[in-house]
Amino acid sequence: MKDFGQSKYVKKISEITNLLYRHGWDERNGGNVSLRLTSEEVNAFDNVHTVKRNIPIKFDATALADDYFLVTGTGRYFKNVINQPQLDTGLVRIALDGKSVDLLWGFEDGGQPTSEFPSHLMTHIERLKVNPNQRVVMHCHPTNVIGLSFTQELSEKNISRLLWKMQAESLVVFPEGLGIIPYMTPGTNEIGRATADKMKQFRAVMWPHHGIFAVGDDLDETFGLIETIEKAALIFTTIKAQGGDIKQSITDQDLKDLASDFGVTPNPDFL
Ligand code: 13P
Ligand code: ZN
Repeated sequence: MKDFGQSKYVKKISEITNLLYRHGWDERNGGNVSLRLTSEEVNAFDNVHTVKRNIPIKFDATALADDYFLVTGTGRYFKNVINQPQLDTGLVRIALDGKSVDLLWGFEDGGQPTSEFPSHLMTHIERLKVNPNQRVVMHCHPTNVIGLSFTQELSEKNISRLLWKMQAESLVVFPEGLGIIPYMTPGTNEIGRATADKMKQFRAVMWPHHGIFAVGDDLDETFGLIETIEKAALIFTTIKAQGGDIKQSITDQDLKDLASDFGVTPNPDFL
């Protein structure tokens, strides 16, 4: 039997959630991940063809009807996923009416998709409009990014430029910059709408005093995007810890040269 539990998708989401935990970005049940799969990918397995449970969702996901997502469970600890993915993750298919999901695999002890599933699905819908290869939404609580949201002016231009200037990789990895929404209540449709709206322009959005929401074509790319942003924020923290007296740094002209050498277009509103 071809067991979905042994698939590369379950292996990879287990590995990535473990790395997120080890980075210290997902304390307790913090963070959530969803990975969109195609029907061809899912149908290659034998134990995904019966509906185990139907689970209502809080908003209309008709735009994704019949789509498949491997998603982490609400209240589940990322440190545990690697040893029990069949409990802490689930493979769901969005029902045709868009108001519930059919559970096909996983969540074996009664689990349900993350409380941020509306934000994930709204983000998938928005990103698919600009990128047909969109697959992943990842949310976590990276320490230094959250720190910035307390000490820096919450302007996208200000924080994007700050992060770009902390290391040469930043501009190359996220030339569009970092989106920012106001502080909002987690798990609500409102934060989902605000985040998805930002995703028209950005692939990573800061949730002030909470964390980050990021997207990508695969789990590695999305993880790498968050890693790069958090590394830049860590360098900023380190500079402050060293006394904050900057003697030299990357200039606007350096950023422009970097962009032209790497063939990326920086957000014209920021540079
Ligand atoms: P879940 O446990 O529901 O995934 O929530 C964790 C979280 O980080 C909320 O923002
Ligand atoms: Zn969170």
